[in-house]
Amino acid sequence: MTRHAAERLQNWIDGGHVAGSGPVFPTRNPATGAVLAEVETAGQAEVDRAVVAAARAQAQWAITPGAERARILRCAADLLRARNDEMARLETLDTGKPIQETRVVDALSGVECLEYFAAMAAGLTGEHVDLGPAAFGYTRREPLGVVGGIGAWNYPLQIACWKSAPALACGNAIIFKPAELTPLTAMKMAEIYQAAGLPDGLFNVVHGAAETGRMLTRHRGIAKVSLTGEVGTGRAVMADAAPTLKHVTLELGGKSPILVFEDADLDNAVSGALLGNFYSAGEVCSNGTRVFVHRSIKAAFTERLLARVGRLRIGDPLDPETQIGALISPEHTEKVLGYIARGVAEGARLLIGGQRVGSGSFVAPAVFDGCRDDMAIVREEIFGPVMALLDFTDEAEVIGRANDTEFGLSAAVFTRDLARAHRVVAKLQAGTCWINHYNITPVELPFGGMKQSGLGRENSRAAIEHYTQIKSVYVALRDIEAPY
Ligand code: NDP
Repeated sequence: MTRHAAERLQNWIDGGHVAGSGPVFPTRNPATGAVLAEVETAGQAEVDRAVVAAARAQAQWAITPGAERARILRCAADLLRARNDEMARLETLDTGKPIQETRVVDALSGVECLEYFAAMAAGLTGEHVDLGPAAFGYTRREPLGVVGGIGAWNYPLQIACWKSAPALACGNAIIFKPAELTPLTAMKMAEIYQAAGLPDGLFNVVHGAAETGRMLTRHRGIAKVSLTGEVGTGRAVMADAAPTLKHVTLELGGKSPILVFEDADLDNAVSGALLGNFYSAGEVCSNGTRVFVHRSIKAAFTERLLARVGRLRIGDPLDPETQIGALISPEHTEKVLGYIARGVAEGARLLIGGQRVGSGSFVAPAVFDGCRDDMAIVREEIFGPVMALLDFTDEAEVIGRANDTEFGLSAAVFTRDLARAHRVVAKLQAGTCWINHYNITPVELPFGGMKQSGLGRENSRAAIEHYTQIKSVYVALRDIEAPY
């Protein structure tokens, strides 16, 4: 048997590879445990170097016409699309997600984001404000400067694009720290940006764990930090950003509700619940893990749900037939299994799944019934394939229960009654609501959380507000009437 030395991954600063002065750690394939690369982490010296390079490059980028920025982003989109299969494979190796998902979502949603913000870059404008005969005003929409991006491990490439595309479109430079567990595809993005003609220093990648993230969040030379991660990390980042008064965008966790009313198309509602719980083995922030089903249809819903859960194919993430891949790490697998044991201990009925499959990080999708709103599996974000079924009879009651959480990322309503759908959605405390669908996040719509699920929005025109600042300019048309 031949043994290949694992690839060595360095930081990407100012258009080239830079050795890290921090500890070296391995990144592993969660499906097999094999080491994919040894990663050199950035210490303060590399982070400082990235900030200096980014600031220098950003000064030029800020005065580059929007149409030219747009051309480079469009080119990056084309290059990423052309490398979709390679990216999908890499993302599957690094995250354990099935190739049938990564081929159609991860890189391609990044492509759409690049295309969308390329179009925006060419159209960014301020406003003219009429102030009467003595003056007029106008606003300039200016970049923030150097932006720090900190990513989670569930959608590494998508997150790198969701942060870098709007940042660059608006004339900023970005220093991106991927999650320690999934550092591979951000480096490919660096290659792609360079090949697309992005000037060196505008997109940098620094590796490392929380400590490297903190260096970005606390840095005086960084004007904004955008984090995707857990609520606790969001709090830490906001506190660390306070002394330098950074802008912050926080895309955090959730425990979102799906409301299935008695008139819903049952198969469609079951599809929504499956997508909202078991896609990416449940490692999706917006998942609808509290499934409230009207009591009159609960038995029929559950029967159809279990039939489909029983047919889910778990296994090798690289097999195109696989629907449920590996969880991100052995530690995370233990956490998910711990929640399943806790659900059983608290008296919920495990209808299907919930057991480890094989010896690695695979868990069979679990459906719990007999849940109460106060159980840990109903209140806390598990970030694994664990669905909790709950029932209800009354609209006002279910809205109150759906909102009775610290989170507010997403929610869905399944009903054929249009008036009810809009009435209920208006009362749900969630940043994204779907009517008769789940977990679809087109780049044209803002994405982000209410309550503890976050601050700010990604995607759509709304993101522009979070990557620019407004300057007001007053232009006098008459002499000053000084009272002195
Ligand atoms: P974490 O919060 O553990 O980590 C997120 C990122 O922050 C990682 O890069 C991590 O580094 C870094 N980090 C950790 N602590 C700090 C700190 N004190 N200062 C600066 N950076 C820090 O989240 P996970 O990676 O475990 O991802 C899962 C979470 O992300 C879930 O809660 C999920 O809901 C949420 N999420 C939210 C999304 C949204 O858009 N709302 C989308 C996707 C996920 P490292 O991991 O390398 O140590």
